[in-house]
Amino acid sequence: MGRRNNREEVFRGTGVFPGVAIGKALLLETPGLSFTPRRISHVLTEAEISRLREALKETREELLDIRERLLSRGLRKEASFVDVHLQILEDRMLMEEVEEAIREELVNAEWALEMTMKRLLGAFETMDEDYIRERGQDIRQVLQRVLRHLLGYPPPTLQEVGEGVVVVAHDLAPGDVAQLDVAEVKGFATDVGSTTSHTAIVAKSLGIPAVVALRELSSRIKGGETVIIDGQQGTVIVNPSEGTLREYELRRQHYRFLVRELLKYAPLPSETLDGYPLALRANIEFVHEAPVAKQYGAEGIGLYRTEYLFLGRVDLPSEEEHFHSYRQLVTEISPHPTTIRTFDLGGEKQARSIGTSKERNPALGLKGIRLALKEKEAFRTQLRAILRASHYGKVRILLPMVCCLQELREAKELIERVKEDLSRDSIPFDPHVEVGVMIEVPSSALITDLLAQEADFLSIGTNDLIQYTLAIDRQNENVAYLYQPLHPAILRLMEVIVQRAHEAGKEVGVCGEVASDPFYSLVFLGMGMDELSMAPSAIPRVKRVLRKATQELGRSLLKEVLRAQGDCRREAALRQELAKLFPEDFVTCQA
Ligand code: PEP
Ligand code: MG
Repeated sequence: MGRRNNREEVFRGTGVFPGVAIGKALLLETPGLSFTPRRISHVLTEAEISRLREALKETREELLDIRERLLSRGLRKEASFVDVHLQILEDRMLMEEVEEAIREELVNAEWALEMTMKRLLGAFETMDEDYIRERGQDIRQVLQRVLRHLLGYPPPTLQEVGEGVVVVAHDLAPGDVAQLDVAEVKGFATDVGSTTSHTAIVAKSLGIPAVVALRELSSRIKGGETVIIDGQQGTVIVNPSEGTLREYELRRQHYRFLVRELLKYAPLPSETLDGYPLALRANIEFVHEAPVAKQYGAEGIGLYRTEYLFLGRVDLPSEEEHFHSYRQLVTEISPHPTTIRTFDLGGEKQARSIGTSKERNPALGLKGIRLALKEKEAFRTQLRAILRASHYGKVRILLPMVCCLQELREAKELIERVKEDLSRDSIPFDPHVEVGVMIEVPSSALITDLLAQEADFLSIGTNDLIQYTLAIDRQNENVAYLYQPLHPAILRLMEVIVQRAHEAGKEVGVCGEVASDPFYSLVFLGMGMDELSMAPSAIPRVKRVLRKATQELGRSLLKEVLRAQGDCRREAALRQELAKLFPEDFVTCQA
């Protein structure tokens, strides 16, 4: 392996795709773009603006070229990221701001670009939501590309990728993948990023281990070092010792074995030993996750978070854009159902094209169905596209953040009007498309009987139900210790929801994060849930546990957790007990 004399160093970040990768580091460097900030006189402003426009034109051509290259290699998803960059580049307001800086501040184009970038990124960095911060990174990447053209730097050359490399970079821009032969890349490690960054998304879809948020990794290596990426632990080891290398070689083999073993459960039916069918479905944010969901054995999509179609852009998605995404997803997932949640914007997910600017308390503000009913045109556009897609497979519409019956009625009326419009235009759709309600706030939980009379199915969003019932901001680390899915209040609410739903003859499921924990999934089995929807990669493990469990086990576990009255030590003891029954699944699984 050509060991160097260098010391072993461990870097910690956030694992975004599990698994172990070992390879030589390929450092993707971002060239330092230094320039001289210059003040200019009035007479030169127009000349600077033309320089800027020329650079914009060249950047556009470069992005179109990258997009073409990606498409010709079948990398459709990466190409769609480049589309996002093209949209940013074509954002007139953004570029007018740079021109204004040239005119008003009397500075050269490079300096104006940098000023605009700093001001915008400052605003993005204060946002709580990772996804929105990531979109700030998109703007930075686009403006840096423009800066490179302004400075006349040559485009980055295609990297020679040897066999078995791990890519190390400060950040991965969509176009960067165009420079690589992805088939040879074993892993990714970047200084910045989060679970929703491009690196994470690319790694997820390629199915290779990745760690982000490693802070200074790329500046601490030269390239060519042996690097271990542990996507499970979120660590990167540079120049591992012989011992470490041996240990990770074993871990890699073990991990592959586990994945292979778990994947054997993917095609099997999701039912308990005594034949109780508990459907396991996937939560996805992007259409390109559909094949992954299928590979992990999802029996359909239980939650497609469509608000991601609205984020990171300035304009609203058109009906055709919505329709193409939905049709592609529905066709791919068919014959299983695809549950399309209408846009859940507002609160921590603010789109630039829709909604209010500032609210004093966004978590209690214009969010989910409230915003959709206020912004009827955008809602109608989305509903038209969903209904059109229902012609291609089984579609279910899911309404987020419903807190009273009137919201459900109003949404259903709108759906009926859209159906009439489609019929008038002779556009085909499924007239029996189901409309479900998310139970995410205590008020809707307590009127489940009323909602269940008029909705076709119910889905419990525990992430929010816990937040609103226990009064703990789900993004606030200071109160994270209070986030207790087994708090008696949550258990009582959930029991009521299931009971009332079933009395009305309607199906009910859970689509919050907790559904992916085998321990909670057994508790939900005990409650009599009909569906659990979770991150695709969690499905095989939950399925393996369920297939070895009985309804009776679920019921007695539910009794025990109710008896524990929210005492975490008793919950831990129960987990220990279950670890004896399911040794492979409870040892490694986290609470
Ligand atoms: C939930 O609240 O549990 C849920 C699934 O919705 P989101 O996480 O998108 O708010
Ligand atoms: Mg929610």
